[in-house]
Amino acid sequence: MKSIRMIEAGKPLELQEVPIPAIGEEYVLVRVRAAGICHSDAHYRAGRSSMGMLPITLGHEIAGEVEMIGKQVTNIKAGDRVCLHYNITCGNCYYCKSGNEQFCEMVKMLGHHVDGGYAEYIAVPARNAILLPDEIPFAEAATLMCASATAFHALHKGRVKAGETVAIFGVGGLGLSAVQLAKAMGAVEVYAVDIKQDKLELASEYNAIPIDASRVNAVQEIHKLTKSKGVDVSLEMIGTRKTMEQSIDCIGNLGRAVMVGLNQQPIEINTYMQVLGKEAEIIGSNDHLLGELPLLVDMAHRKILDTSRVVSQTIPLDADKINQRLDDLENFTNDVRVVISMED
Ligand SMILES: [Zn+2]
Ligand SMILES: [Zn+2]
Repeated sequence: MKSIRMIEAGKPLELQEVPIPAIGEEYVLVRVRAAGICHSDAHYRAGRSSMGMLPITLGHEIAGEVEMIGKQVTNIKAGDRVCLHYNITCGNCYYCKSGNEQFCEMVKMLGHHVDGGYAEYIAVPARNAILLPDEIPFAEAATLMCASATAFHALHKGRVKAGETVAIFGVGGLGLSAVQLAKAMGAVEVYAVDIKQDKLELASEYNAIPIDASRVNAVQEIHKLTKSKGVDVSLEMIGTRKTMEQSIDCIGNLGRAVMVGLNQQPIEINTYMQVLGKEAEIIGSNDHLLGELPLLVDMAHRKILDTSRVVSQTIPLDADKINQRLDDLENFTNDVRVVISMED
C-alpha cells in the first residue's frame, strides 16, 4: 500500500510502498478515507518531538471503513464506518484502570509512536474504533478526533455547568469547537477572544460574544461585560504567556482557568490575589479520553456541534502536497484545516 512516511527528522516526508499491516485477534484493519493534517505533525516532521520509531507513517486524525476484523472482535464488523481514537492504551495499568488512560504508562499514539493515517490502511485495536454515522463525512470525522476532542475534554476539566459564563482564548479549530460545546453544556454566555477578525466573526456566528484583543484589553472587557464578576471558566488555547495570564485574570470567585495551549515559559501568579483569595483553580488539560469520543460523535451527528465549516481543503495522499501543507503550518502562512481525502 501507499504510505507517506517520515524517514528522518527535519526532512520532507516520502512516499513508500509498504505491506498492508497484519492484524492481531483484537485488532481491525481500517481502509483510511480521511486523515487530518495537524500542527503536531509539523512538529514531528521537524524533529521537535521524539518519535516511537523511524521510518513512521504520520497522521493521528483518522476516519475510514473497516476492511477486516480480528477473531476476537465483536463490537465492529467489516464495512462499518469508523473514526479512530489516536491513543492506544494498555487497559491494565493504574491510570487505565482508574479511568485516566491519557496517562497510560504504555501509551502509543497513532502517527507518533506507531504508524498513523497518512496511508491507505491502518491496523488499530478494535476498541479504538468509534462507529461513525453515515451523515458525518469522513473528512469532518477525522477532525473531531483531535481538535474537537481536546476542546471537549478541556470543558469537562473546567466543569462547565448550566448557567455559567465561559471565556475562550483563541478561536481557531479548537476554540470554535469549544464555543459550540460550551453552549451545549449550558453556558449562558461565551466570550471569544482573538486578534483575527475572520475568526471572531465565525465565533459570533456560533453565538459567542467576540472580544477583539488587538483593539481592547481582553481582561478589562470581560470584567466590564460580566459587571466585574469575571467568568466562571476560561480556556486558554493559544499557549502564549500573555494569554495564559489573561485567562487567569479574567475568572471570578470560584473560577476555573483551564490551560490547553502549549507553552514552556513560566508565568507569574499572585497566589493570594489570583488563586487563594478567590478560591480559584488553575487546571491543566491534556489530550482527551476514549470515553468522550462516542458522545462527541453523537453531538456532531445531532448538529449540536457543527463540523460543516471545519475542513477548508482536501488533498490526495501525495507527499509533495502534504509536505507543502506542513510547511504552511510551520510558517503560519495559512490557518486553514486541510484533510487528506481518499474517498472514491
Ligand atoms: Zn491533531
Ligand atoms: Zn495503561
